[in-house]
Amino acid sequence: RQGKGRYLHFAEPMDLSIRRRSAIEAGLREALATEGQLEVYYQPLYSSRTRAMKGAEALVRWHHPSLGTVSPAIFVPIAESTNLIAPLGEWVMEEACRAAAAWPLRLLSVNVSAVQLRDPDFADKVFAILDRTGFDPHRLEVEVTETSFIENARHCRPNLQALRARGVKIALDDFGTGYSSLTHLQQFDVDRIKIDRSFVNAIQSADAGSPIIRAILDLADASGLDVTAEGVETQAQSEFLTQAGCDALQGYLLARPMPKEAIAALFADAAT
Ligand code: C2E
Ligand code: CA
Ligand code: CA
Ligand code: CA
Repeated sequence: RQGKGRYLHFAEPMDLSIRRRSAIEAGLREALATEGQLEVYYQPLYSSRTRAMKGAEALVRWHHPSLGTVSPAIFVPIAESTNLIAPLGEWVMEEACRAAAAWPLRLLSVNVSAVQLRDPDFADKVFAILDRTGFDPHRLEVEVTETSFIENARHCRPNLQALRARGVKIALDDFGTGYSSLTHLQQFDVDRIKIDRSFVNAIQSADAGSPIIRAILDLADASGLDVTAEGVETQAQSEFLTQAGCDALQGYLLARPMPKEAIAALFADAAT
């Protein structure tokens, strides 16, 4: 029903009571106006062949004063159904660009909601953030889902074209869970696809692998696209994906999402 092909691990977001939803909405409004409740974590992704860090994905975290840490799987959909996703998304992007400007990080990936891409001024808002933070557009990648293409093709396309014209990369997130994936690869210029965790999860052994992932990798190869596999948790998954030619790996096996101090420490270690 959320239209994103989201992989829910628990039923809670589905039956969140109206009262809880509005408490989260009010809390989020408060969090956006307060220092310290929202934080950006960074999850590195690595080259499958060399194991060098290729980039990192920004993932928002919310430390609620009484509820504790609330998952973005819960509050991002609520932000999307209210008018909070735009300020939230812009806050994440600005915070991440500001932090990453100082790091020797090749690519910073930021998630962008379909709702944000519906705003005709979205690309200009991104350019304003790049100007304010001095972040090089060639080092920025936006992760969008197929839902964006379906629900707001009219504004989505010019936004993505404007971003690309300045060197920003486009990644298609949760690939394989959406509607008619092949059509979108042809219609929209994307640089990378991210194979959804549900497919990676299904890999039981390096030998058996996954026919679906092989097919996606063939398709990507033929289309000249980079591929990241997300949710890599086991050695067998990593082995199969590397052998099958997947460019980049992301998942708990390699690194968990971490606060900016922790990823900055990784760079400092690598430099000494
Ligand atoms: P996503 O974009 O598909 O992000 C990947 C999610 O998988 C993240 O969950 C990440 O922590 C988790 N993950 C990474 N590696 C593994 C693994 O090996 N195993 C498992 N089980 N999980 C792994 P997270 O951080 O809870 O975010 C959930 C979703 O919330 C994201 O899914 C994304 O759709 C959304 N989200 C997070 N931050 C933002 C944001 O700043 N803006 C927007 N629009 N959405 C965001
Ligand atoms: Ca993502
Ligand atoms: Ca994803
Ligand atoms: Ca996913």
